[in-house]
Amino acid sequence: MNISDRNKNPQASRKRIFIGLLGLTFALIMVLIFVGGWIATIGLNHLHPGLTIAAQIIAGIAFIFSSGIISALILSIIFEKELPFTHKIRGLGIKLFLPLMEILGPRLGIAKERVRNSFIETNNRLLISGNRHKTPPERMLLLLPHCLQMADCQRRITTNIYNCKRCGKCNIDNLITLAESYNIRIAVATGGTLARKIVRDHKPKMIIAVACERDLTSGIHDTFPLPVYGILNQRPEGPCWNTLVDTTEVENALQTFLKTK
Ligand code: SF4
Repeated sequence: MNISDRNKNPQASRKRIFIGLLGLTFALIMVLIFVGGWIATIGLNHLHPGLTIAAQIIAGIAFIFSSGIISALILSIIFEKELPFTHKIRGLGIKLFLPLMEILGPRLGIAKERVRNSFIETNNRLLISGNRHKTPPERMLLLLPHCLQMADCQRRITTNIYNCKRCGKCNIDNLITLAESYNIRIAVATGGTLARKIVRDHKPKMIIAVACERDLTSGIHDTFPLPVYGILNQRPEGPCWNTLVDTTEVENALQTFLKTK
């Protein structure tokens, strides 16, 4: 089964949250454009009537531009189809709308974690819809959080994941096996700074990242325009402690994005 066919219902609900917040953010931007344009019109009219017309034209262009972007983003999310500017639209979603949605969501009773979750899901859907040029294995990086390692394990896997002695007590063992069988690069990061260094060193074309909502969101944001497909870790013992990941989900992502011979 292809990755795009899995978990349709939870995905649909996360998509609805994202689209709803996107619509509200858009409405807010429109109100700001309208109020700003109106205030500018009053002030500029005193200076020169021509300036009023110029301000109205600028506000009109901003309205058309924002409407076009939002409509394209919503359509590409709903239909999960690649549109001509899917890549740039994903960028705008990440850089412009996500920070606004993180502010707006909690004020509407939607926890920040749910906003981030819906963002990660939407980012993933957009990557799948734009997945025409697959990634060669040597340019794919599987980036893992340090908390996947068993807390009492003494092996220093952040300097080199292959220091793992493959005892099978945590997911690292299976993930190394996956990386070896697909011939991709794999690394562990303790935080954003190390993650950025790993990305600089490996120069991947694409990243499949495992982490919590907060780290995935900031990772996707920081590494744009590099595509990052996010997979959430499971936290049965609480955050940052002996976390787990569904390795089948990781393998499905690899099969979806890797170029096969
Ligand atoms: S598989 Fe074993 S050796 Fe490797 S990181 Fe996990 S606990 Fe440590």
